Order: sequence, then structure tokens, then C-alpha cells
Amino acid sequence: MTNKPKILLVYTGGTIGMVKDYKTNALRAFDFSQIQNKIPELQQLNCEISTISFEEPIDSSNMNTSYYVKIAQIIADNYNDFDGFVVLTGSDTMSYVSSAISFMFENLQKPVIFTGSQLPIGDLRTDAKENLITSIQIASIRNDEEPMVKEVCLYFEYKLYRANRTTKINAEQFEAFTSMNYPPLAESGVHLTFNKHLLYEPVDSRQKIIFRKKLIEDVVVLKLFPGITKNVVQTILNIPNLKGVILETYGAGNAPTETWFINLLEQTIKKGIHIVNVTQCAGGSVLLGLYETSSDLQRIGIINGKDITTETAIVKMMYLLGENLTDEAFKHYFETPLRGEMST
Ligand code: ASP
Repeated sequence: MTNKPKILLVYTGGTIGMVKDYKTNALRAFDFSQIQNKIPELQQLNCEISTISFEEPIDSSNMNTSYYVKIAQIIADNYNDFDGFVVLTGSDTMSYVSSAISFMFENLQKPVIFTGSQLPIGDLRTDAKENLITSIQIASIRNDEEPMVKEVCLYFEYKLYRANRTTKINAEQFEAFTSMNYPPLAESGVHLTFNKHLLYEPVDSRQKIIFRKKLIEDVVVLKLFPGITKNVVQTILNIPNLKGVILETYGAGNAPTETWFINLLEQTIKKGIHIVNVTQCAGGSVLLGLYETSSDLQRIGIINGKDITTETAIVKMMYLLGENLTDEAFKHYFETPLRGEMST
């Protein structure tokens, strides 16, 4: 019997799980059940590590929401037997999947840390080892007999972020992610330093975890650009079965004031399709009504996405659509931070 924290490592695919065959230069999948033999440094961590891998590792570009459910189901099935979870996915869509998982679990009391890498684990200059080792370490840290982290995070290149605040910003540099509207939860240097006041605290730690797996995919992102035509906007808003629109506006939530544009949005909202206003800017917030160019949007009942990222707006939309809410309740819950995904 040991008292060491038990960590479940879930490998789904992506660059991190590849090794390079130096003779042929080809990348091939790594057997994650052998991880402790391949990375003996893991034995220095004060925890017990178990692994589960997808039978077929998947590039994160091919992950749809059925894979989100599959990852969440693994966590749910093993929730009581482990103290923390580290999920390895490709970095390309990691902000989407990790953010979706943050909504799928209500009253999460344990750490779920997503990580990956820019270079394969078998590459000499890989960033995978540090990302993996520190993620496992973070998942096993306790504070007063409780896990230090009780939320879904993303760890990459020495920084721990709240997952639903992140965006992938670089396809080449090791520093591939950022969180423009919320500071890192922890930074790894000589010391692993937590910004404890920024960590998510569950509303009531006695509440049981709730797992919701219904995500509705009938949503679209409509990114405004100068010169966008009525034909384009009308065609997008009339996609059959459309249930939600993420409208990427300019600056603090501004959009053209032309009558055809506002009328099209208003008709769409009247049909029961939810439209959320998010900014195209990497940082900052929508402030509806600050300029005349957003007053009409406010008047017609557009949902204020505040400082949510586009990635998180998409998955929050999918999540809330699965909840069969009235239009009023949908707007209310979208505008309310549910997992620390937007500022109050
Ligand atoms: N294409 C890979 C993926 O997202 C890239 C990576 O793993 O970083 O699955």
C-alpha cells in the first residue's frame, strides 16, 4: 500500500507520441505503456503512473466531439481511482478539446492537465519531456490533503494555463500557446510557482461531480471583414439546421451598422438561432454599447461573449445547446462564467 498520488496518463495522439526512426527519418507512434522505461526520469516523480492509450492515435485535426466524449468518459470511468489526469493530445486543436472537457465536468475536484509538444518525444531536442514531466508533477501536487489544481488546465513550455482561456498562437515555436485574458496559473523555472489566487475553486467542494456528454455541433463561426457581402452573410445564416453563430466582430465588439446586416442578424435571432459576439482581437473584451457600432447588436439581443476566446465560445455553445435551455436561459448562462472561461 502506498500513499503516493495516482496519476492516469491518457494518450490520444499528436506529435508528442511520435518517435523518429533516425535511419529512415520517418515518425512512428510510440508505445505509451512503455513510457516509464523510455523516460526513466518519470520514476523520480513521487507518484504512481498508469497509462491508457487510444487504440488508434489520432491527429488532433481529425478530432470531432465524439473524441471529446471518449476522453471525458475515460476520466469519468477512472475518476474515483485516480488523484489526477494528464491528457496528451495534438496541440493543433488542444485549446478546443481541453475547453470542451472543462464544460463537460461540473464540480470537478481533481486536476486534468492537457499537454503535448511541438517536437516528438523521440526527438533529441524535444519539448515533450519537460511538458510531460511537469504536467504529471502538477497533477500530483497536493495542498492541505487536497489536489492543488481542481480544474482543466493546459501546460506548455513552462506555463500552466486555465485550458478554456488558451489559444494556439505559434506553429513552430515551443511557446505555442497563450492566454491573453487570464494570467498563467503556474510557471515552471527553478521553482514551480503557483499563482494560487488565480486557481479555480469549485463552488461547493461537497457537491458530486456531474458529467454531461451531449455536445451539439450545428454551429458556425462568422468572421467579419471589411467588404463582407449580404450574400455571404445571408448564406451562412441560412445553413440548414444551424443552431448557433459565433460572430467575430471588430475591436470591442463592433460591426457594420448597415440595415441589411442588422436585419439579417435580427431575423436569425428571432428564428431561435443563438448569436454570440466575440472579438477578433487576440486580447480584451467585447463591450456592447460602448460605440454606436455595437448598440444595434445589443438592441436585437445578441449574446455578449465578453472576453471569451473563439475556441471556448464554440465549445460552450455546443455544450449549452445540449442542455435544451430557453432562449433567455441560454443567453444568461452564456454570459455567466461557468468554469472561469470569462471575466466577470
Ligand atoms: N498535428 C499535430 C496534432 O495536433 C500537431 C501536434 O501534435 O502538435 O495532432
